[in-house]
Amino acid sequence: MKVTKDKVVSMHYTLKNDAGEVIDSSEGKETMDFLQGHGNIIPGLEKALEGSKKGDKVEVSIKPEEGYGLKLDDAIQEIPRTALQGIDEVTIGMQLQSQDQDGNPFVVTVIKLDDEKITVDANHPLAGETLHFSVSIEDIRVALEEEVSHGHAHSAGGHSH
Ligand code: ZN
Repeated sequence: MKVTKDKVVSMHYTLKNDAGEVIDSSEGKETMDFLQGHGNIIPGLEKALEGSKKGDKVEVSIKPEEGYGLKLDDAIQEIPRTALQGIDEVTIGMQLQSQDQDGNPFVVTVIKLDDEKITVDANHPLAGETLHFSVSIEDIRVALEEEVSHGHAHSAGGHSH
């Protein structure tokens, strides 16, 4: 069986940045399971894994455009401190939950603050980074109808979300 649309893939992965530092890894943890062809993982990785088989090792470098996007200046905004009432202490590096006009939640990171205003960055922490993945394909199975209709993989024991 190969990795194609509507297959559930179990993989181990290690993600490094350009400097060779490990940013994220599933080693020593459970495999990461995802449903191929539904945007569960970044586009560049989905493309790179398409057609691979169980036991394959895939090494791929993914440009920001196919990863978490480029860093956008527009995503950096100043907001008045009064808009953050209810939060006792704001510190640099703190992540805050916000909402777009449609009510979809997204996370911003505080990058600067003074007495009146707070500067937040809504870029993904990995925006602008070239991502270097080492992936091993541990298992591939046909997705259940329910998984395809939900657009994501369910755990081995059944539904869990
Ligand atoms: Zn579901």
